[in-house]
Amino acid sequence: MKTGTEKKDIRSLYPEELAEWILSKGEKPYRAGQIFQWLHKSQVLNPEEMSNVPKSLKQELEQDFACSTLREELRQESKLDETKKFLFELSDGNMIESVFMKYRSWNSVCISSQAGCNMGCSFCASTIGGLSRDLTAGEMLLQVYEIQKLLSEKISRIVVMGSGEPLENYDNLLRFLRLVNHRDGQDISMRNITVSTCGIVEKIEELAGEDLSINLAISLHAATDEKRKKIMPVAMRYGLKDLIAACRRYFERTGRQLTFEYALIDGFNNTSEDVHSLLRLLEGLNCVVNLIPVNPVRDRAFKEPGSRAVREFKAELERHALNVTVRREMGRDIDGACGQLRARKAKKL
Ligand code: SF4
Repeated sequence: MKTGTEKKDIRSLYPEELAEWILSKGEKPYRAGQIFQWLHKSQVLNPEEMSNVPKSLKQELEQDFACSTLREELRQESKLDETKKFLFELSDGNMIESVFMKYRSWNSVCISSQAGCNMGCSFCASTIGGLSRDLTAGEMLLQVYEIQKLLSEKISRIVVMGSGEPLENYDNLLRFLRLVNHRDGQDISMRNITVSTCGIVEKIEELAGEDLSINLAISLHAATDEKRKKIMPVAMRYGLKDLIAACRRYFERTGRQLTFEYALIDGFNNTSEDVHSLLRLLEGLNCVVNLIPVNPVRDRAFKEPGSRAVREFKAELERHALNVTVRREMGRDIDGACGQLRARKAKKL
């Protein structure tokens, strides 16, 4: 089967689109359901493996569609927990990263939505080298399918928090969400999926109208425009006033609690002034603040606050009735931060 961008990725098609194609070929409609289940329930990599589909139809599939592939290039396994990080090669040679995390009662994967990233956050290796291209919905799905197969583990939670800004690849993201949630595929609940954005205001507004019960996480990392602009170029495009207003509307429309990711950088955003700016900014918003102490090994330019400073920052926010969690760091001994393996492979780090 030919791969590449000139043909649609068969794994990105909704069942209705497959049905339309099947009808155009004069085949029986039930064939669409068979093919969809082969792709998304049995997670076959190649139409050849669809044993109950006629050979002639398989040949037509190969003629009309591309079938994205992922090849495991590298794997890092944590010795501290069961976190595993994968570097995958896409059909066109681009590299992406995905991470498997094992919790007590569920397994989760963190997937990439783009090869590289254009957003330029200063603490992130994914942006080194810029954006190569958007991933198709099928390539996002494949990360889940491939890891399930490689590890013989069932995945029930997904975070779209790897390389890329998912809301800059909006249509493919939506397809991915609806396909991974489909009852004839993996049937992963929307409530178990988190999409993380650095704050693309108009897309947050659009997402609010999609009737999805996903979790939305905003990479905030600073509570004033002035500070945010120093580490996140997206803050030049969207001020915090507009971002938080969009988040309020998102909550009003969806009823879903928002998460604000806040990477604690010692001496930069963890002073009592920062606490007050954060409290003012998020006042009255149904949200949780997820504190992430930066890892100085990975983020060499930044200093990690001590555990006491993290506790104090958390306690100060909680004293003012804000919901706060501290992210449990998985795979701290491997290159857990997104983009590091890929950048290293490309010798950019
Ligand atoms: S943190 Fe996310 S949005 Fe920012 S550069 Fe990294 S991948 Fe892109």
